[in-house]
Amino acid sequence: MPPATSNPPETASASPAAVLHADVAVIGGGVIGHAIAWEARRSGRSVVLIDDAPGNGASWAAAGMLAPVSELHYQEEDLLELMLASSGLWPAFAADLALAGAGETGYLTTPTLAIGADAADRRALMDLRAVQQASGLVVEPLTVRAARTRESLLSPAISCALDIPADHQVDPRKLVACLQEVLAVHEPGAGTAVAGARGGFAVDQRAAALLWEDGRVSGVKLAHGGTVQARETIVANGLQAASLDGLPEGLQLPLRPVYGDILRLAVPQHLRPLLTSTVRGMVHGVPVYIVPRQDGTVVIGATQREDALAGTGDGAVSAGGVYQLLRDAQVLVPAVSELELLECTARARPATPDNAPLLGRVPVRAAGTGSGHSTGNIAGLIVATGFFRHGVLLAPAAAAICRDLLDGRTDPRWGALSPARFSEKHQVAGTEHGPAGAPSPPKDISSMKDLDPQKETA
Ligand SMILES: Cc1cc2nc3c(=O)[nH]c(=O)nc-3n(C[C@H](O)[C@H](O)[C@H](O)COP(=O)(O)OP(=O)(O)OC[C@H]3O[C@@H](n4cnc5c(N)ncnc54)[C@H](O)[C@@H]3O)c2cc1C
Repeated sequence: MPPATSNPPETASASPAAVLHADVAVIGGGVIGHAIAWEARRSGRSVVLIDDAPGNGASWAAAGMLAPVSELHYQEEDLLELMLASSGLWPAFAADLALAGAGETGYLTTPTLAIGADAADRRALMDLRAVQQASGLVVEPLTVRAARTRESLLSPAISCALDIPADHQVDPRKLVACLQEVLAVHEPGAGTAVAGARGGFAVDQRAAALLWEDGRVSGVKLAHGGTVQARETIVANGLQAASLDGLPEGLQLPLRPVYGDILRLAVPQHLRPLLTSTVRGMVHGVPVYIVPRQDGTVVIGATQREDALAGTGDGAVSAGGVYQLLRDAQVLVPAVSELELLECTARARPATPDNAPLLGRVPVRAAGTGSGHSTGNIAGLIVATGFFRHGVLLAPAAAAICRDLLDGRTDPRWGALSPARFSEKHQVAGTEHGPAGAPSPPKDISSMKDLDPQKETA
């Protein structure tokens, strides 16, 4: 049963002259911003979530695979601890949402099968298995016969199958809707509903800049007027994080878009269920996945490309990408050709040079000393972006880490995720020097360590 609640009346979002007051302002309403906002609310804080198109960024496209095992790639072993930690938080995160009265998130503990099409794909998957096993992960080979007993619509021509029981799924669109639902619920007398915000939490505007006062971040200037005054501000607007004005001087957030095309298809009644496991395939060296949803649809993804298509902007879908996905999915599951194509979507993943998020407080450096010696953190500011191909999986961990930071705790395990790790050490200005008038341009990422984006699959 959901707890007794009262909902604040719907109010217009911040008007040009409005000043809203909250304990926490979250900039960006993707899965990351929503999860952080909910965790902050669960800590008893009032929260505003600022976004003119919530849920419409990378989160709109995501397949929602919660896949720490299949997502382990060469040279990304450092990310594994975070992915496993978040994977471990998912069951309670989903259960707590249900307890809070949210609708269906689509969280399912369906397993994953890694499937190879030809002999070279088999070798690649077995090599990867050796890396996964060395990290203590469970990936068990199945005979093709056993795999086809489990999934009768798999092609008999596949070269191998590996069972990955720990990789699960959620529906990111439903997840965001659920988080919006619970954020709009306020316990009577709790004082968490923010006057002037829709549902007591939402501001349907873009953030323009961070506000500063007495050397600390004091809130957010909105793009069409109005401000949000907040004790803590969390920058969680994905790819756009670096374009906010008023970021700390010298802080470089080197985010780059990695586009992905993704398809949604309906399975006709006579073919249901098409699959009971998520299938992650390697087809002649190219990754493809098929994620079966409970409602009888499947999601097929995901290409990756670093160049935007000319013309219709970031959401433009690549014809070649759609062709590749349908072609390769049919190699693994021939009945895909009988499905009804419902939707083609593309979005950009917010990637960083080392493929790990930019997550944490921003250290104050003794500006001008060149020593890079940290003198604490900039008060009132947390950064949570750069979740690349793992944002849905990592949402509960991001939320938990931010909650710790809000509560004044720091877990040394996540120190390596510092949002300042790509900034020149002596450049992040001390609070006594105030903010930059405008953000510094991102570093030239071509000169940085890059962990082979071709490994991209999610
Ligand atoms: C095709 C594809 C498949 C994927 N599959 C998976 C998967 O299976 N599993 C997985 O874990 N991850 C997956 N991902 C990655 C995942 O989608 C991202 O890591 C995640 O969505 C990032 O969430 P976010 O909230 O940081 O960013 P976004 O979802 O991009 O949200 C950012 C938000 O910020 C808002 N915003 C921007 N600028 C401003 C501003 N100035 N003021 C206010 N708001 C602003 C935008 O409107 C947007 O709503 C996939 C991504 C793609 C593209």
